[in-house]
Amino acid sequence: MPRGNGTGPQGGGPGTGRGMGKGGGMGRMGGKGMGIGGNCICPSCGNKIPHQRSAPCYQIECPKCGAKMTRE
Ligand SMILES: [Zn+2]
Repeated sequence: MPRGNGTGPQGGGPGTGRGMGKGGGMGRMGGKGMGIGGNCICPSCGNKIPHQRSAPCYQIECPKCGAKMTRE
């Protein structure tokens, strides 16, 4: 195209990036569920222990039966 007048190249550029910009993500974790301060639960025996920030639940072993805990 010899007469590129500026309208050409902006086809799919700026518009495609909109979805993931800002907004969504971390804003509203208010309720329960993910996040700091839940419990870890044992999938084997159902034992619950308070989740510790230093270690993810799946690295903690159940004090009763020794299975790996999972997040509640
Ligand atoms: Zn257990």
